[in-house]
Amino acid sequence: MATTSTTPAPLLHSTVLDWYEAHARDLPWRTPDASPWAVMVSEFMLQQTPVKRVLPVYEAWLERWPTPADLAADAPGEAVRMWGRLGYPRRALRLHGAATAITTTHGGEVPDDHAALLALPGVGEYTAAAVASFAFRRRHVVLDTNVRRVFARAVTGVEYPAQATTAAERRTATTLLPETAETAATWAVGVMELGALVCTARSPECGVCPLKRHCAWQLAGRPPYEGPARRGQTYEGTDRQVRGKLLAVLREAHGEVPQARLDEVWPEPVQRARALDGLVADGLVEPVAQGVYRLPR
Ligand code: SF4
Repeated sequence: MATTSTTPAPLLHSTVLDWYEAHARDLPWRTPDASPWAVMVSEFMLQQTPVKRVLPVYEAWLERWPTPADLAADAPGEAVRMWGRLGYPRRALRLHGAATAITTTHGGEVPDDHAALLALPGVGEYTAAAVASFAFRRRHVVLDTNVRRVFARAVTGVEYPAQATTAAERRTATTLLPETAETAATWAVGVMELGALVCTARSPECGVCPLKRHCAWQLAGRPPYEGPARRGQTYEGTDRQVRGKLLAVLREAHGEVPQARLDEVWPEPVQRARALDGLVADGLVEPVAQGVYRLPR
């Protein structure tokens, strides 16, 4: 049975903000000289990939494409190539699409308000809120998996949030949003950092958590999760794995690739064909001629 925290919001704010000031990781997209574009690139990359894997790709990406216009001037396939092994490579195409729109309709400057960010191709609610908040210090609810987990435990008193974001979660997050934009922006990244470093999915470190005296789940004796089965992270043998192997061949080829080279990476022909069809349908791979493929131009 869920319990709801009755801790006053200002106490939660000061507790998390103090903890963040002392414990925040020193990450390049958080430095004062990180451009809005750098923040946007980091948000695209971090959505489904851990910081450690993102860092080298992020650095190389910004060195090659320091502005949206630089990326827009290059082929989308180059974005897919640079994305490397970050996974979920459609994000590379979406980032390229956003860079193109920023260049053509915003004079090459990342727009500074949520509505304009949300109108960019490939930018969803989360990314728009995160960029507006982290790059422009605006006041927005920023709900990623880490934030949702912290709120589920500390505020609602359950171990995990629902699979998809609910209206109730959004109401909770809105109610807890600090009044001033500057504080709200730091609160957003602070809760996110707490979820990434302390209130982790599998082994929350309640003993060192700044919220331990206020956390509804902790105070209720850490009741076990009672919701529907949570999605696993299986990768081996999935179409995702096959897509990754096929795309790796194309990334490393720097040109056109015959079907025979793709056939070498996965023995099962039906799954291989399905994965390749999926890559083509997603615009990540271009068929050039019968049995010849390349990254999109
Ligand atoms: S006390 Fe434990 S469960 Fe609660 S917010 Fe902190 S780490 Fe998460």
